[in-house]
Amino acid sequence: MKVVKINNFEQLEKKLNKYVNNAEIEEIKKAYIFANEKHKGQKRASGESYIIHPLNVAYILSEIHADSKTIQAALLHDTIEDCDVTKEELEKNFGLEVMKLVESITKINKINFSGDTEAIIANQRKILVGMTEDVRVIILKLADRLHNMRTLWALSDKRQKANAKETLDIFTPIAHRLGINSIKSELEDLSLRYLKPDAYYQIVEKLNKTKVERDNYVAEMMASVSKVLNEHNIKHKIKGRSKSIYSIYKKLDKGKSFNEIYDLLALRVFVDTEAECYQALGLIHSKFRPIPKRFKDYIAMPKTNMYQSLHTTVFGIDGQLFEIQIRTYEMDKVAENGIASHWSYKEGKSNMQSEMEQKLQFFRVIMELKNEGSEEQFVDSVKEDVLKDTIYVFTPLGDVIELPNGSTPIDFAYRVHSKIGDTTIGAIVNNNIVPLDYKLKDNDIVKINTNKSSTPSQEWLNFVKTTQAKNKIKAYFNKSIKEDNHNKGGDLLNKELRKRKISISIFNENIEKLLSELKCVDINELYINIGNGKYTPSQVVNIITEDNITKEEIILNKTKDKEVILPTVKNDIIVKGIDNIKVNIASCCKPICGDRIVGYITKGYGITVHRMVCPNVSNLNERLIDVYWNEAITKKYPTSLLIKSLNSNILMEVIAKTSNSDITVESFKSLSSGNDYIYQITVLVENKEKLTKYMNDLRMIPNILSVERLIK
Ligand code: MN
Repeated sequence: MKVVKINNFEQLEKKLNKYVNNAEIEEIKKAYIFANEKHKGQKRASGESYIIHPLNVAYILSEIHADSKTIQAALLHDTIEDCDVTKEELEKNFGLEVMKLVESITKINKINFSGDTEAIIANQRKILVGMTEDVRVIILKLADRLHNMRTLWALSDKRQKANAKETLDIFTPIAHRLGINSIKSELEDLSLRYLKPDAYYQIVEKLNKTKVERDNYVAEMMASVSKVLNEHNIKHKIKGRSKSIYSIYKKLDKGKSFNEIYDLLALRVFVDTEAECYQALGLIHSKFRPIPKRFKDYIAMPKTNMYQSLHTTVFGIDGQLFEIQIRTYEMDKVAENGIASHWSYKEGKSNMQSEMEQKLQFFRVIMELKNEGSEEQFVDSVKEDVLKDTIYVFTPLGDVIELPNGSTPIDFAYRVHSKIGDTTIGAIVNNNIVPLDYKLKDNDIVKINTNKSSTPSQEWLNFVKTTQAKNKIKAYFNKSIKEDNHNKGGDLLNKELRKRKISISIFNENIEKLLSELKCVDINELYINIGNGKYTPSQVVNIITEDNITKEEIILNKTKDKEVILPTVKNDIIVKGIDNIKVNIASCCKPICGDRIVGYITKGYGITVHRMVCPNVSNLNERLIDVYWNEAITKKYPTSLLIKSLNSNILMEVIAKTSNSDITVESFKSLSSGNDYIYQITVLVENKEKLTKYMNDLRMIPNILSVERLIK
């Protein structure tokens, strides 16, 4: 699209006249006069009067026919931030809707997207959620960003690079998802120009050098295609199409040479109806031989951002390859402006908003996530599900489901519905039964077999890809564990009361005190906390009898920073070919029964047993000896785990998970605290199977980021 820059309101007004009524233009003018007054005297880094910026943002929006409220908001968008105008003042003058739009954009503009500290992550969440509540805010933000990128030359080199990177990381993926190709493609080209100026100008130069030749080919091909369509009375328009510099850069970056990029010669054919698209295609194919693999029917199967068109590549005049796109004018509007081709001027929730919520799975995922999960999960999910590589698979009914690359049938099932996910028992892909950890591929047709009484498996957490599926599986287990703990806690407490001969009425008199001291909302939460081991029944009853030491204090005293003494090994490990030799357990990797192990012969000390994965033995080949666990042992051995957590008070929950298993905590110490909290916990455990289950249990604790075995 041609870039137009304006410097007065009349130019904007001329554009608005094409689609906005007079009353609304008056409202817009009021906003302009207000903004012009407020920004008076302010200058941009480019030296221009400040008002030029909001004016051009409004103009960019008028090019995609934004509604009048959005145009007003565009003119006013920097007045809260830069002119100390209040929300109330805006609402009084321009109404609630415009005020809300300006307020949202002001919040978003305060955010710096680069960096990865928690505060920024939390902010990213706010912006994305804020954006999804009114899609016009996103489009306004994209227009704002576009004008800022057009005037980026005025900033320092460092800020140019930072802004360009942020644009490519955050804004172009969003523009792509919304199908707003016109803005996306200009943003990409501008970003490339500042990020990789050498590559950018090299491409520009090459394009300029070959321009005359390419223009001749294209003109000749256009005439030829036009002739065949005219012969069959198909009314049409044809345009030569230039490929964006960024898309050429991407292809060169993938190792293609300039001459291999065959859609450098490209045409776009516009017709009135869908039927004529196919007729035109047939006629073109009958005259120019197509390359079969390059044909795509995005009319029958629109892209998830609503894009529709036919794509074909043919051998054109002189054997040159031409990429031809065929579409109706309506399809072209959607292809260029995506979601922004659906502005509606009615009150309430716009068509555009509901269209977005229905059609764009991208936003459904965000909307769903905004109420559940931690900030961290949310951002992971946005990065993974939304901004990364995606595949498109089908339901048996032909609905398209969009998933991140590497997704499995379980991810698919949860994307369709959490009920389906929870009750999945098997999957059929393209008529073949596949395992549940099968990696789905583009265009797979996926059928999920369910059984009403079936429930999720912890195993799934090891292979599902989407954060959505992970959260749903965890939520399922948290809920069922909660129910179990509630029942168990009630029983335990009643038993303790009977044992200590405390009547129900005395207990009832003390409920308020119990709840406030133990920080529980209600009696149900108290039961759950007893059931999960956070509080012991005796500790609860102690509060009634005023004999009060918290369990946390007891445990901490018991476990804090204690040196772990490795047990002696006798007959628990079998050394191949040797009886009666002294065997020690290595303290660096602390193997337990079930681990693959290897012995290392130490002078004078017998054999030290390491885990096979322990890096401390990896280069000692000649002194290694085969050793095996005696499968019959039941003795517990110590081993250490590293737990990474988002907060510092996970001890009680870790202990609670432990009390449900026959694992003993030997020591618990805090290693460091930066953004994450890292703990080293040493446990006594019988075998690897039990340890694996325990580690999975720990991973279910909210705020725990990772649990790994420690090797020193
Ligand atoms: Mn701005």
